[in-house]
Amino acid sequence: MSQMMNAVVKTAPAQGAEWQQQPVPVPKPDWVLVKVKATSICGTDVHIYQWNKWAGDRIGPKKLPQILGHEVAGEVVEVGPHCKRIRVGDYISAETHIYDPGDLQAMLGQLHIGERMKIVGVDHDGCFAEFFAVPESVCWVNDKGIPPELATVQEPMGNACYTLLGEDGDVAGKTVAIFGDGPTALFAAGLARACGLTQIFMVGMSDFALAIAKKMGADHILNIGDKTVDRLQYIRDHTGGYGTDLVLDMVGAPAAVEEGLKVIRKGGRYSAFGVGPGVIPVDYVNGIVFRGITINGISGRRMFDTWYRVRNLLASGRIDIRPIVTHLFELKDFAKGFEAAMGNPRQCGKAVLFPDPAELAAAKKRMGI
Ligand code: ZN
Repeated sequence: MSQMMNAVVKTAPAQGAEWQQQPVPVPKPDWVLVKVKATSICGTDVHIYQWNKWAGDRIGPKKLPQILGHEVAGEVVEVGPHCKRIRVGDYISAETHIYDPGDLQAMLGQLHIGERMKIVGVDHDGCFAEFFAVPESVCWVNDKGIPPELATVQEPMGNACYTLLGEDGDVAGKTVAIFGDGPTALFAAGLARACGLTQIFMVGMSDFALAIAKKMGADHILNIGDKTVDRLQYIRDHTGGYGTDLVLDMVGAPAAVEEGLKVIRKGGRYSAFGVGPGVIPVDYVNGIVFRGITINGISGRRMFDTWYRVRNLLASGRIDIRPIVTHLFELKDFAKGFEAAMGNPRQCGKAVLFPDPAELAAAKKRMGI
């Protein structure tokens, strides 16, 4: 009989998940088996947990049961016979997008958006478990100085890094408006500060999250609930009348997109990361064409460019993301983590889960939580 482990399993096409015994996965020849030290809850996990329309369409009831989760830090305990780079004992995180090297995009260096790319925790079992299996090709060896509760969030931090840097990385000395106050937006605020942006405007709705943004280095906090402030005017007043060089959309709601395209200066870059209703009417001719706006769609992270930068920023202490990691739980208490992540108004940055209570206790001590 195969060895068993505890895991958070999506068993039915309805809200919730179950704490279940599952067989420890057997890695394929070019995969590795990882003992999970820490794993974090992402917006994607929330969609699947709630089983909203996106989850129903993307995953579908036929694929259930499936183990949730994709953000992770852990130790490699077994490697398949075809693995060459990763060794037993390596402390790793994993890129969520499992690329197919035969995809045109992969061959052109756009590993993160290949046609046949698969996603951990969406297309197959994820890492909300004591162990999980993942291809060696997407393993990223962590700096040992980055503790598991921080190493696990490198994946969403990579999203923020790519949204901020875009394709050219031309950001130093520039100004930015960030729409949203979820964890990725908060990471973006910290990264913008670390990368030398000069005016960082944060447009959000949760006082709790916006206070974290301030700690991360945002210069201007604009709560959309405050009707006394004309945000467009305010941003123009603080950018020499031009508007911001960069807009990072991390909401995807029609009102945020409309406002973002107004506060951006002529010739600026708009990074589109927010996932909202999908079809959003915009003033294409006057808002984009004649204003010379560059729009970058952001799906995932540049592999492995953002991993490299994020690791260096964390390991060097150039950025301190601890204010964003607000909640730590044992993995078996995953429901508490989801409750925190789904709270409205938002009272949570990032929630991190630990299969081993000793690992949780150590993390709490390090974080002073
Ligand atoms: Zn994620």
